Formats: sequence, structure tokens, C-alpha cells
Amino acid sequence: MDSSSTEFSIAGIPVGPGETREIYLKVSESYLSGSVQIPVTVIRGREPGPTAFVTAAIHGDELNGADIVRRLIFDIDHEKLSGTLIAVPVVNIPGFLSQSRYLPYNRDLNRFFPGKKKGNNAERIAFRIFREIVRKCDFGIDLHTAAGGRMNLPHVRGDMTHPRVRKLARAFGATVLVHQPGVRGSLRREATDAGVPTILFEAGETGRFSNKVSLSGLRGVLNVLSDMKMWTEHDPKRPPFQVIVKASEWIRAEKGGILDLEATPGELLYEGDLVGSILNPFGRTVTQVRSPVTGIVIGVTTAPLAIPGTGVVHVARLKKTLPWVERSMKRAKKRKAALILAKSKAKS
Ligand SMILES: [Zn+2]
Repeated sequence: MDSSSTEFSIAGIPVGPGETREIYLKVSESYLSGSVQIPVTVIRGREPGPTAFVTAAIHGDELNGADIVRRLIFDIDHEKLSGTLIAVPVVNIPGFLSQSRYLPYNRDLNRFFPGKKKGNNAERIAFRIFREIVRKCDFGIDLHTAAGGRMNLPHVRGDMTHPRVRKLARAFGATVLVHQPGVRGSLRREATDAGVPTILFEAGETGRFSNKVSLSGLRGVLNVLSDMKMWTEHDPKRPPFQVIVKASEWIRAEKGGILDLEATPGELLYEGDLVGSILNPFGRTVTQVRSPVTGIVIGVTTAPLAIPGTGVVHVARLKKTLPWVERSMKRAKKRKAALILAKSKAKS
């Protein structure tokens, strides 16, 4: 969608080339009869180009994306942008206000896209977002964190068999790309099916900001905008390696107790490696949790307690790519060590 020649508006509010507008998009009403409105920043570049959305906090307690969007809005200048950026720091307003993942009636907004005009509350909200934002775009990035009680390695999810989704995912620059088209009703799945290829960024944990996650998310979004020729002010850096993984699984506790976790996001786990120990209240080991697979840790629990079935570590399986990932990780470690050494020499 060429943004130079056509009229562009959200909620009936026009945004001209070389303009930035802060718009409140009404999506529902509250129990107090007030409007439920989503804050939307539209940055329309002076030059023509694609239209993209970046959304955060579709799950109301996944806050880190809001910080990424904040930094993004600060960085992008309509004078130098080609195309249009629609930035939404908080999609799920009721969830954000109550610090919950869900909409009222415990509905997960990310299961109701593309929505229905006369549907239930979640469907109506999804419908407004889909019509006013998603359908006006050429591609999108949806920012998430792990669900409550879990922490994720920054990674990208999407339908990696879809060439345009794969291109976006690769450009984002995360090391791990998980092939997961998403369930029916999820924004990334429905947007992609509607011709708006969309990727999902997963990083960090609910209820907090992490500077590291914000930086990696911001860098990823800017990498994509730069790859799409929308933003040339950014110098994209390639990750030390990049793998597409097709299968991931949770290693689960078989016994109840206090969890002493050993695994950390981003590390390589080999079949049989110790993931953590489960202790009884006397501090004695009840059992050791070992990895049944070889792969890279993409998520861990942050809860100190476990019962049979508790997901402890989320592993993306590596098979053919394992030797290459091992080599790339070793190289990256060496480079980092050399950099630290050079810095400490420069100081002394
Ligand atoms: Zn989420």
C-alpha cells in the first residue's frame, strides 16, 4: 500500500505524509459507560513506502512490548521514514488496567481475530483492531513476553513456510526462529492469512521491563524496517547464528517440591543434561530433572515450586543444525571474551 498517493486515516482521523499523530481508537465501553480506547501513534513518512503495524500487550500483563514501542516511537522520525508506521503500545486496555492477560470474562483477545462486528466483547474489540489497523498494513510485528511465571529467550515465532513471514523473521535478527503459524484466532495467524504477513516476538517475562529485552526488541523492529527499506538510519547487525526450529517442547517435573533450576535461556542442552533438582522441605533432593532432548533453551519457569506436570524448561530441538550452532556459539563466546579483554586493556 503506497502511502504517498492515498488518504490514510485511523478512526476517521487523517494522517498526511510527513505527519505524526497520536490517536485514540475506541474499541469498546467500560462498566462506567466510558470509552475503552487504544492509544495509536501513526508516523507517516514523507516518502512513500510500505505500511507496518507494531503491536504490544495484546496480553495485558505482557508489558515489555510497550517499552519497545515507546523507544521505537522516540527513534522514528516521519521526515526520514519511507511509508507508514502504526505503533500500538497497549492493545488490551482492560487487561492492562487490571494487570491481567485477559479481557473481561477471562477471554484471551489473541484467540478472537479477525473478530466479528456483532460478536461477543472480545470479537468486537478484535474486529475494530483488525479493520482499523491490521488490514491497512503490508506487514506486522506483534510483541509478547512469556506467560506469567515464565521467562523467554528473545525469539521470533511465525509461519516459516510462508516466504514473506520467513523474510521478516530472518530480518528481525533473533538467533532462534520458531516455526509456529499460531492457533486460529491469533493475530499473527489471522493477519498472515488475510495477506498481512506477521511475526511475533517473544521475550522476557510478564509484569516487568528488562532493558536487555527492550534493546533486542527495538533492534529487531528497526532491523525489519531497514530490511523493508522504510528506515535507513539504522545499521542492521547479523546475529551470531540463526536457526529455524520446527519442534519445541516443555520438560516437565515428575515430582512435587522446591525447584532448584540450573538451565538458563539461550544455553545448549544435551540429552541427559541436568536441568534442575526438586528438593523436599528438608532440602534433600527428591529427584533430578534431566533433558530428554538436545536443543536450545527458549524458555524457563520463574516459579520456585513444582508439582508433577509443571513445565520447567522449554527446549527448541536441534538436530542437523546442532554442529553449526555449537561452532557459532563458540565463535561468539570467543569474540565476546576478546572484546572484554580489549576493553579492560584500553582502561588500564
Ligand atoms: Zn502473549
